Parts: sequence; C-alpha cells; structure tokens
Amino acid sequence: MGAIGQLFIVCSPSGAGKTTLCRKLMERFAELRFSVSHTTRPRRPQEVDGRDYHFIDADAFERMAGSGEFVEWALVHGNRYGTSHAELRAALREGRMILLDVDYQGAAQIRAQYPNATAVFILPPSLAVLRERLRQRGTETPESLELRFRNALREIEAYPQFDYLVVNDELERAVEALCGIVLAERARRTRRAEAAERLLAEAAALNRSGNSPTAG
Ligand code: ADP
Ligand code: 5GP
Repeated sequence: MGAIGQLFIVCSPSGAGKTTLCRKLMERFAELRFSVSHTTRPRRPQEVDGRDYHFIDADAFERMAGSGEFVEWALVHGNRYGTSHAELRAALREGRMILLDVDYQGAAQIRAQYPNATAVFILPPSLAVLRERLRQRGTETPESLELRFRNALREIEAYPQFDYLVVNDELERAVEALCGIVLAERARRTRRAEAAERLLAEAAALNRSGNSPTAG
C-alpha cells in the first residue's frame, strides 16, 4: 500500500496567531500542503484567491454544500467556511502532511471522519493580548472585532477535544513548539512501522542465508 497523508489541524480563537504560525510552519516543512478552504467571507486586501481561500458567494457555497462537496463546513463569525473533499483527496493521495486551518466545529467534524488526524489548539497568552492582536491586525470592523472576541470564549472552551495546546506568547517559541509537534507526529510508531519491518525482513533474509545477525 502507498503512503497515506496525515491531517494536521491547527485551530484557535481569531487573532491568537494561527495564520502567522501556519505560514511559519510551511516555511520549515516544504512538504506540508495547506488545505485551501472555501469561504463566503469577503477577501481581505492582502489575501489571494486560491492561495488563502477560495472566495465564493453564498449561493455557490450553498450549492457545494448541497451536493456534498464538503468534508466539513461551519458558520463562523457570521460567514461560512468549508473544507472540500477535492482539497483533501489530492493531498492524501500524494501521501503528504496536510495543514488545515479550521475552527473548532470543523476540527470535530474532520476528526469524526479521520480519527488519526492530529489537532492543535493555539491559545493567546491572555484575553487582553488577543483583543490587541485583533485590533492591530487592522482587518476587522469594530463589530466584527467584537463578535470575534465574544466568540473566543466558546472556542477556548472546546480545548479538551485537542491533542496539543500551544500558547502563542513569543512567536519563535510558539513556532518551535509547533515544529516539535509535527516532528513527533511524524515519528509515531504507527507511521514508522514500515522502517522497523524492513529491518526485520532484512534480518530474516540474512538468517535464511546462514548469516544471522542475531546468532552468536
Ligand atoms: P489568526 O489567524 O489566529 O486570526 P493572525 O495570525 O492573523 O491570527 O494574527 C493576529 C495578529 O497578531 C497579526 O497581526 C499577527 O501579526 C499578530 N501576531 C501573531 N502572533 C504573534 C505573536 N506571537 N506576538 C505578537 N504578535 C503576533
Ligand atoms: P478568518 O476569517 O479569520 O480567516 O477565519 C475565521 C475562522 O474560520 C478561523 O477560526 C478559521 O480557522 C476558520 N476556518 C477557516 N477555514 C475553515 C474551514 O474550512 N472550515 C471551518 N470549519 N472553519 C474554517
């Protein structure tokens, strides 16, 4: 059987820094593939359609959801966001590690279908810092900022469903923690069993030829 890709979910309240951390992670691990979601949220000036999101209108989203094109989708801060089957299938087939930036509802839906997915929750060091990061990012209207800040509590309450928690205080420290998790996940016995089995097969072949590595 060929390699099977690994799903790596990163989640956080808005403004905690998951987009920043995901970008850093992609710089470190070139083989990571970012899962580009579909959304009805208007594009921010620095965002690129097809790279950050597939920006679509409510009707198109409805059609995709209706025809079962999403692995998961959710209403988040008043807009719809979804991960398409097409996006995941391509990466899974290539045997790559896929990075998903989804909210806690999306994380739960993905884990229900892919129980081996790894889920990391990013926490801000404090609520005051969270609000300040949202403000200084300069992308939200006052109403949207308040909505995102109010929703943060519900999102943080979902932390028990995650495998790892990373506090994004100092950026480089948080990046290191995230990289450490990727490395640890890659080294899981269940994903590395082939390497051990190969050595055992090699030993068995040596045994058969009378050059047993365990003899003596
Ligand atoms: P999210 O994707 O979780 O909504 P962003 O990655 O957009 O959050 O980060 C929100 C703002 O906080 C951005 O302006 C980003 O540059 C800033 N930021 C992210 N991480 C840190 C950090 N560790 N220290 C200071 N500022 C940060
Ligand atoms: P933003 O508008 O700040 O880019 O994202 C808002 C929220 O939507 C974030 O919590 C982000 O993780 C989440 N999100 C982005 N893409 C998806 C997706 O495909 N599915 C779900 N459920 N949430 C998503």
